Amino acid sequence: MWFKGIEVPDGRDREGLIEEAETICRARGGRLTQQRRAVLGMLLAVGRPVTAYELLDLIRPDDAAMTSASTYRSLEFLVGMGLVHRLDSTRSFVACERPEHVHAGQFLICRQCGTVVEAEDKRIAQAAEDLGERHGFMLDRRTVELTGVCGVCRSDDAGSENAGPAARS
Ligand SMILES: [Zn+2]
Ligand SMILES: [Zn+2]
Repeated sequence: MWFKGIEVPDGRDREGLIEEAETICRARGGRLTQQRRAVLGMLLAVGRPVTAYELLDLIRPDDAAMTSASTYRSLEFLVGMGLVHRLDSTRSFVACERPEHVHAGQFLICRQCGTVVEAEDKRIAQAAEDLGERHGFMLDRRTVELTGVCGVCRSDDAGSENAGPAARS
């Protein structure tokens, strides 16, 4: 299998998630082909944002027919179906944590370890909508990406000496 040997983080059940994705695609008028399945499965398996090229490198050993073009096409489809989010700031893709309803996620991205937290705050979504309206903008991308340093990296920093802002720069 294409995902052999890779554990899903947080004990999530990948098979269950893929089945769920299949149902979602059907409901939204799409079809989860073998290739799209492989791409989604790999995104779920890595559990963090990856670029299309990283993804291709991961899938290639099990599917020699996969090309960068087919990877991009699959990603495009999955983004369109609301199963995957595109993160422009890091040019990467991440499996959606709550694909059952379409939403514009907000992402907290750690610039040190790359960890991403997906949040869904209706107030932020509404504020973005209002802002667009006030300026006469029709929004076509509503994903909000916030970068910083996550809690784990911050406590790692605090634990090591000479880690103050003055010492670092
Ligand atoms: Zn999401
Ligand atoms: Zn971090």
